[in-house]
Amino acid sequence: MKKKYKHIFFDLDRTLWHFDENSKKVLNDIYTHFKLDKSINSVDEFIEKYQEINEALWSLYREDKVTKDELRWRRFEDTLAYFNISNPKVASDMGDFYIYHSPRQTLLLPETRSVLKYLSKKYKLHIITNGFEEVQHIKLKESGISNYFDVVILSEKVGVKKPHPYIFKKAFLAAGANAKNSLMIGDDWYADIYGAQRVKMDAIYFNFNKLEHKNSVQKEISCLSELYEIL
Ligand SMILES: [Mg+2]
Repeated sequence: MKKKYKHIFFDLDRTLWHFDENSKKVLNDIYTHFKLDKSINSVDEFIEKYQEINEALWSLYREDKVTKDELRWRRFEDTLAYFNISNPKVASDMGDFYIYHSPRQTLLLPETRSVLKYLSKKYKLHIITNGFEEVQHIKLKESGISNYFDVVILSEKVGVKKPHPYIFKKAFLAAGANAKNSLMIGDDWYADIYGAQRVKMDAIYFNFNKLEHKNSVQKEISCLSELYEIL
């Protein structure tokens, strides 16, 4: 795969930035800070329910069926409602707490830093993300990896989300790249891999949890360190 590429486009959440662990940490803090132990038996129960509701709301957000603002408070309001707590003010405060603290968490996926260091000497590195504009830059900065990236393309700025071809075309334009000399690496088959396929860009599917699937992939890895061999 090595020679033909000049540009590598990375997804951010769950590809480089350890979304699941960082999120769990903040949800634990929310459980303590808002004294949820008084009404919810265990923090694990709270987190599990939140994740289920958040996931469903994110699917709606991707389809433009809920707005960003609604997503932010509703995931907490709906979670609290499940535990028979009705308090929109607290739900909204939790939303604010989450949005402030979550991007300031700094855990990255294993080997992220050393792999980026290695790749940055050989390729131009960029980010294409569907995450919220105001938090993605904080994540990159706080986790100390922002310097590795040339161009950061945010779906909110472009106006469409991955896998829409337009966001990839915008990314090529911004980076001075094209589909032939670029490679996409991401954890979300639909957004990242199918998205790359639609613009005929090569892609590596980062399947960290080694989930079984039947999707078409050109190349699949479960640890970023496998990129040393490939690239
Ligand atoms: Mg991702």
